[in-house]
Amino acid sequence: MSRIYNFSAGPSALPEPVLRQAQEELMEWRDSGMSVMEMSHRGRFFSLIAEELENDLRTLLAIPDNYKVLFMQGGATAQFSFIPQNILNGRTRACYVNTGAWSEKAIQDAKNYCEVIVSASSEASKFTNIPDPSDWVLDEQAAYLHYTANETIHGVEFSDIPDSVGLPLVSDMSSNILSRKFDLSRFGLVYAGTQKNMGPAGVTVVIVRDDLIGKSGKQTPPVFNYADQAKNHSMLNTPATYNWYLVGLVLKWLLKQGGVDAIEQRNMAKAELLYQTIDQSSLYRNPVDPSCRSRMNVPFILADQNLDKPFLAAAEANGLFELKGHRSVGGMRASIYNAMPEEGVRALCDFMAEFERTH
Ligand code: PMP
Repeated sequence: MSRIYNFSAGPSALPEPVLRQAQEELMEWRDSGMSVMEMSHRGRFFSLIAEELENDLRTLLAIPDNYKVLFMQGGATAQFSFIPQNILNGRTRACYVNTGAWSEKAIQDAKNYCEVIVSASSEASKFTNIPDPSDWVLDEQAAYLHYTANETIHGVEFSDIPDSVGLPLVSDMSSNILSRKFDLSRFGLVYAGTQKNMGPAGVTVVIVRDDLIGKSGKQTPPVFNYADQAKNHSMLNTPATYNWYLVGLVLKWLLKQGGVDAIEQRNMAKAELLYQTIDQSSLYRNPVDPSCRSRMNVPFILADQNLDKPFLAAAEANGLFELKGHRSVGGMRASIYNAMPEEGVRALCDFMAEFERTH
């Protein structure tokens, strides 16, 4: 069987060397005499894994010392509630930018805790652009400004960090963290589920500036409380130990690739190739404004919907999996995260050209 490429939006393809190393170490980690799954989270072996995990993430993202790094559970979805619970800090309003399905969910959940001011929305364009930040309506009394750095479903990505005019900037980077350089010191809080660019599902990374935490009320359960978790190195209760280990392997793989700078160059090349294939064809179309097309998630529709099923079937026959678009938008979507090799994107582009020629 020829090689298979998995274009799933998440959980998604992992680097092959990571899977092989996990396989090799499944029965025994280094000379510990046990599998990582069997280790006490407070034991000396796992402590080493946890320490390396945080250090590697700090290196890769150049995280300043005045930021805490938390590894939590509940997915990015839980953060939609944890963020207002933890960092409203006595304020009653928060600003949110609505650029797609994930922003909408974040807004919906935040409404349980505060008044949400929708500073800008691209709903009118069916989420195919990003409203000009100079037109955003910001409330200086708001606790923070939230935006979704990459909309996984709509394929819309911010290429620059918007100016929050003094408000702590909060960003959902679930689907583009570690894929491109960014200046973390511009943010109050960044969060991301691991199941796209960092490993399997089950861990959520939260990077938060010291001064924003420690003031939330008692109603926030301690395991969801950033300050409590920070004090306990994210081990207030038993963490998802094996998942931490796997995330650690992915980070080491990324360091070996040359870090975020190097992977960003590759991600740019991959995305360019795919968008070029789409733009040059008369069968495929990507609806997103070119200035904010995602490098990670590339949605496209076929000119004739009747070809969707044959397209997916033929793709699978050619080893190209998980190309069906999200149920809410239809069409196709190719997710091309860090672990997708350029050959995978090339194989997809070649297939798309051939499918167009024969249909
Ligand atoms: N935000 C974004 C941008 C996402 O892509 C996703 C998951 N696809 C989520 C939040 C929700 O993540 P989870 O399912 O891990 O809660």
